[in-house]
Amino acid sequence: MTIYLDHNGTTPLLPEVRERFVELIDEGLGNPSSTHAAGRRARAVIDAAREEIAAAVNVPEEWVVFTSGGTEANNLALRGVLEAAGTGAGLAVSAIEHSAILEPARELATKGHELTVIPVDERGAQGLAATRKALERPGCRLLSVMVANNEVGSVAPMAEIGACLRDLGEARPLWHTDAVQALGKLPLHLQSWGVDLASFSAHKVGGPPGVGFLVRRPGLPLQPQVLGGGQESGLRAGTENAAAIGAAALAVRLACERQESYSTAVGKLVSTFWEGLSQVAPGARLMGPGLSVSPRLPNTINVLFDGVDGRTLMARLDLEGVEVSLGSACASGAIEPSHVLTAMGMKESDARNSLRLSLGPCTTQADINTAVEIMGKLLRPSTPGAKPAHG
Ligand code: PLP
Repeated sequence: MTIYLDHNGTTPLLPEVRERFVELIDEGLGNPSSTHAAGRRARAVIDAAREEIAAAVNVPEEWVVFTSGGTEANNLALRGVLEAAGTGAGLAVSAIEHSAILEPARELATKGHELTVIPVDERGAQGLAATRKALERPGCRLLSVMVANNEVGSVAPMAEIGACLRDLGEARPLWHTDAVQALGKLPLHLQSWGVDLASFSAHKVGGPPGVGFLVRRPGLPLQPQVLGGGQESGLRAGTENAAAIGAAALAVRLACERQESYSTAVGKLVSTFWEGLSQVAPGARLMGPGLSVSPRLPNTINVLFDGVDGRTLMARLDLEGVEVSLGSACASGAIEPSHVLTAMGMKESDARNSLRLSLGPCTTQADINTAVEIMGKLLRPSTPGAKPAHG
């Protein structure tokens, strides 16, 4: 028995998506750039997928650029905008962005683009005053602020940020958002927020890994990062994986259609999980927004068990069949403290040890009960035979 509680890392393929994926593979799709029948079949799959995705996230079809995932979409947005703007153009990012934003941002800074990192408070909330200050810096060309944080579940004040930008008038910086974790978990209002570019990834919503997309307003100067055959309107060269893109589109549509009911259901499970954990581990502390904060990612809690070594606890949970993550999944393997938690003011030792527990559509109340029971057993130092996860 495995209880998978790492859905912010990746999600299992949804059965419906798997079915569509297999059907598409069996259709013998050609190269979508070829004009023969097999090529035309692949092109039709991609066209339909673009239409399905655009309708799901409520933007015109021409705004969707397929990429290999959220990381590539983020790189295309940041590097693409700043390189097109030329030297001297600055950027501002939130301190708790994913490394797929922070790394390209740091690299751009080494090339002369001024980088402003916008702080967050101890709950991971981004202040508007600091955001406004960053936007008003001379030369600021791009703001990148994620909708929802993957580690602690805090959500940026999107409507208010949009209003700040509108106040700046014509000369305002462009706005990119990493919407990878928000998809299917929160309502998205890209157009009314006034977002210019947004990144998404299919494998976070039951789609195949290796497919993502960047939504961008056409006409916005964007330097392609992958050059070659001119696919995706010249913005992302390379033969498209038509079957995976077709499957991804279904996952994205289902995530958007089910968002409201899923968020309510998973939010209730998270509350009972936290109640259970607080009982078996009274010293447990919730990092990030409290459960009564709205909006927050409904499926995510980040928990620090006082005096408990996070890596040891994670490894013992794994042996018991409970899969969780420590900090960001993409950074696992490294013992670096989570940059999100340190940005929230946590001590480095605590920021190394807190666990991220992220539930998904297949998580049941029985899973939660069992996970709480196992955690209780591992955290209880006096249980004969059960080594506590301390030290
Ligand atoms: N952005 C956020 C907020 C994420 O959580 C992730 C994945 O963990 C990514 C970007 C990267 O997406 P992908 O795995 O599709 O490259």
